[in-house]
Amino acid sequence: MATQRTFSIIKPDATKRNITGAINAIIEGAGLRIIAQKRIQLTQAQAEGFYAVHSERPFFGELVEFMISEPVVVQVLEGDDAVAKYREVMGATNPADADAGTIRKEHALSIGENSVHGSDSLENAEIEIKFFFNDDEIVG
Ligand code: ATP
Ligand code: MG
Repeated sequence: MATQRTFSIIKPDATKRNITGAINAIIEGAGLRIIAQKRIQLTQAQAEGFYAVHSERPFFGELVEFMISEPVVVQVLEGDDAVAKYREVMGATNPADADAGTIRKEHALSIGENSVHGSDSLENAEIEIKFFFNDDEIVG
């Protein structure tokens, strides 16, 4: 399997509850390496831009408000088949549908407050990593 990079956000419900370490323990336990990381406060423009693909969805306003409600931790993850592996580790969007042991099953509060984001394709991973990180911030 090829080594890939994917993009992760630890969302406001998780930073607020002080469980960023617990979430990263699951990520590292799955064999993914956190090769870049920063805790930031998203602006409304950043949150709207990042989730632009959902701008026509009924929950868009709620999603943006949530994403700017507390700081987030943005991260680059690296490993074999990282994009698909991290989606697996996150679990289903709705924690009620997520498998045992996944981040969302263990930690998410609801379909909206679901603790983590992960890129859904290699192409989007590259776009999302560039949205938040300069090359010199990714040291491996
Ligand atoms: P993410 O993109 O955050 O990794 P995902 O790919 O599993 O999650 P998407 O369909 O891309 O799910 O939705 C993006 C985010 O929008 C979800 O993670 C969730 O926070 C929010 N969301 C999705 N569906 C709903 C909904 N029905 N009600 C409220 N919020 C929702
Ligand atoms: Mg998504």
